[in-house]
This record gives sequence, C-alpha cells and structure tokens, in this order.
Amino acid sequence: MSDKNIPKIVILGAGYGGIVTALRLQKQLNYNEADVTLVNKHDYHYITTHLHMPAAGTDDPQNARVNILKLIDEFKIDFVKSTALEIRPAEKKVILENGEVSYDYLVIGLGGEPETFGIPGLKEHAHFIRSINSVRLIREHIEYQFAKFKREPDRTDYLTFVVGGAGFTGIEFIGELADRIPKLCKEFDVDPSLVNIYNVEAAPTALPGFDPELVQYGMEVLQNKGVTFKIGMAIKECSPDGIVLADGEEIKSQTVIWTGGIRGNRLVEEAGFEAMRGRVKVDPYLRVPGRDDVFMIGDCSLVFNPEGRPYPPTAQMAIQQGETLAHNLIASIRGTQLKEFTYQSKGTVASLGKGEAIGIVFQRKLKGSTAAFMKKIIDLRYLYIIGGLPLVFRKGHF
Ligand code: FAD
Ligand code: NAD
Repeated sequence: MSDKNIPKIVILGAGYGGIVTALRLQKQLNYNEADVTLVNKHDYHYITTHLHMPAAGTDDPQNARVNILKLIDEFKIDFVKSTALEIRPAEKKVILENGEVSYDYLVIGLGGEPETFGIPGLKEHAHFIRSINSVRLIREHIEYQFAKFKREPDRTDYLTFVVGGAGFTGIEFIGELADRIPKLCKEFDVDPSLVNIYNVEAAPTALPGFDPELVQYGMEVLQNKGVTFKIGMAIKECSPDGIVLADGEEIKSQTVIWTGGIRGNRLVEEAGFEAMRGRVKVDPYLRVPGRDDVFMIGDCSLVFNPEGRPYPPTAQMAIQQGETLAHNLIASIRGTQLKEFTYQSKGTVASLGKGEAIGIVFQRKLKGSTAAFMKKIIDLRYLYIIGGLPLVFRKGHF
C-alpha cells in the first residue's frame, strides 16, 4: 500500500466507531483503492460497555479487551499503536507521540472523556470508568480499602463507596459493586453492616429521561442489595477525605467513582473545530461542517433527533455511524453519492448486577432476568459484528 497516488484514510481511535469503520472499509474497498491507517493508543480494542464489571471486580479485565490485530487484516489496514497528540486540519496531518501521519480523509473516533463540570477536586481525587487501565485501578483500589480497614478498624471511610451520578454508567457499576461487596466482606472477614454504598444523583430521579416504572424497579433491586440513593442532590466538591453535597453534608470516603457524564475528546477542540464540550455537530454525512475531508463519529460527534435534541452518546450510535461512514468514505473516493446518516434506536438495556437488568427493546419494557438475557444478546451481537463467531466463542462467556 505504498502507492502515493491512492487516497490516504486515517482513522483515529479503534473504539466502537473506529473499529467498525475500519472493518467495513477492509471488506468493501477494492485492492489498492485506498491506503487505510488505524491509529490507537493501545494494541487492543476495549469493550467499554462491559467495563463496569472489571471495575467492580466481578469479571476479569481481560474479557473486556480484544487484540486489534486479531480483528483487522494487516494486508488491508495499517495499524499504528500510538497516541494522537494534535490534529492539524490545515496541514492535513496528525501529530502522534512517535511521529506523524498525513491524510486525504480523516476519521475522528477518539471517544469521550469524563466531564467533571469544574467541580473542585473531582479530577484529582475521583476515579473514572474509561479504559482497561482505569478499571484495573478501581478494582485494586477497592480491594486495598478492605485490606487497609483490617489494619485500622475505626476507619469506616475505607468501607464507604460513593458513586457520583446515577446515569447508566453509575447504575450499572453500582449493581456490580453491590454484588462484589459481600464477597470482599467474606474474603477479608469484614462485617457487611459496616459497608456503605452511596449513589448520588443531582437530577430529581435516577436515570433521568428513562421509563419511571423501570427506574423504580431498578432502584428497588439496588436498594435491596444495600445501595443508598441520594437523589436530587449534587456533589459540589471532592477531596481526599470524601465528598461534599449541595446541602453541605459531607460523606467521608476514600473511594469516589465519578460517573457524572462525559464530553468529547479534548483534541477535537484543540484542532479548532467548532465544538460543544468536545463534540462536533456533524453534517448529515458525518463530516465536520465546512470540511469534506474530516469525519467525526461516536462520542466526539453530536447528532440531533427530529425534535432537535441531541442523541445520547452510545456504542449503538457509534456502531451505526461507523457503518454509514465507511460507505461515505468510499463514495468520497469514488465520487459517488454519499448517504445521510439516520440513527435507529433499537432500545436500551441497563444491567443491575448478576441476572438483573431493566430495558426497553423495540418499545417493549423488560425487567429482571429477561432484560439481563437481552443485555447478553446485545453484547454477543456486538462481538459477532466485529469478530464473527470465533470472537463470540472466545469472549462471549460473560
Ligand atoms: P470509544 O469506544 O471510547 O473508543 C475510543 C478509542 O480511542 C479507544 O480505543 C481509545 O483508546 C482511543 N483513543 C483515545 N484517545 C486517543 C488518542 N489521543 N490517540 C489514540 N487513540 C486514542 N453504550 C451503549 O450503547 N450500550 C451500553 O450498554 C453501554 N454501556 C456502557 C458502559 C460503560 C461502563 C460505559 C463507560 C459506557 C457505556 N456505553 C454504552 C457508552 C459507549 O461505551 C460509548 O458511547 C462508546 O464507547 C463510544 O464509542 P467511540 O467509538 O466514540 O469511542
Ligand atoms: P450521563 O450523562 O448519562 O449520566 C450522568 C449522571 O450524572 C446524570 O444523571 C447527571 O444528572 C448526574 N450528575 C451530573 N452532575 C452531577 C453532580 N454534580 N452530582 C451528582 N450527580 C450528577 O453519563 P453516563 O451514565 O456516563 O453515560 C454516558 C453515555 O453512555 C450515555 O449516553 C449513556 O446512555 C451511555 N451508556 C449507556 C449504557 C447502556 O445502554 N446500558 C450504559 C452506560 C452508559
């Protein structure tokens, strides 16, 4: 793929959007039609939708990662393991930590970053569920708190766990954490009644915008597992000693997991694209407005529904965008018709720990084991999309 005359496509990020785009291009491009380079920080793709489990320690982080070279065909796609440091649209190049790549077409699929809304101390003292490395740290940290408590039994703040934000990430993580705590209590000979798990949510309800009946069911399941909700209460500060709430109450804790929201990747803003919290409102073809050569997908992109409200950034969205984007890249190269992107929601399912979930799939409300089964089907479907049956059998046991 060294012919200088063939167009160069560079894909930044091998997350949901990036990997689906790459795999589609690999399948649909003709021989020597384009030179495709995929750049990613790690040599593995991680299954973000699964990260709440290894974070809580209910599954091995290994199960949430897939080696990129096992997914792509290196004869068709060049993989570069590197971190992108700067995007220079005027020069049509990207500066990497160990060099640079130039492009004719750029795909930005760098995912999101935690949004801390400027809340003092969060960046410094909270944990974030964002990557394999971040969940390894959370898991080890939680276990370490139990070990430390055995040395200092008056320090109940070691056994107090705060999850900030009861959106889908917060709810899914707390479900796993509540499953894990009894096992840790047993392992470390700790009285379970000494452990406190708080889920703090600023909005008047957990899972704002989701079906109220299912939210109620989900909260009851989690409360029965020992979770205390503080709803309608914002976290206003975080320190090494815990958090302070909007009403002034302090919760002493050595473990604050922030799941209060995400924003787009900071490189997007630094590149000079017009963005809202790191996310670019893309044109109907998934391009950055005013640019025919830069496409944006996944958590870095903003797509609006027919009522004019932004769709939430999800894996489901990134996958569908990746499929349309591959078509549009090929159409751009061939000079044929680009396709408008239309999002088709298949529904949402949130797990609440082992065997329990809530969801709406094709307008049907699901809860309990039926919803948990559906969640598993969704996970398996994704593995099938990116790696076919071999990947389903290798990683699909969770
Ligand atoms: P990502 O999947 O985040 O991938 C970005 C990639 O870019 C990563 O590989 C990263 O390493 C790489 N990268 C980042 N910066 C750089 C850089 N500077 N240089 C090189 N590479 C870089 N959505 C759903 O639809 N259903 C769910 O059930 C669901 N569950 C979730 C559970 C959790 C715990 C979390 C945190 C999120 C969940 N989501 C879910 C949301 C979903 O994971 C995201 O919307 C989705 O991952 C976005 O895909 P993406 O392609 O934009 O980016
Ligand atoms: P989110 O933005 O959806 O939820 C964050 C929550 O934190 C909100 O409810 C918000 O009110 C709350 N919050 C914000 N500031 C706060 C404060 N100061 N104190 C207390 N609470 C505060 O973020 P998320 O849950 O990380 O989800 C990110 C995206 O990923 C969403 O689009 C979501 O739909 C998607 N996701 C989907 C699933 C699923 O489908 N199963 C699972 C996880 C994430």
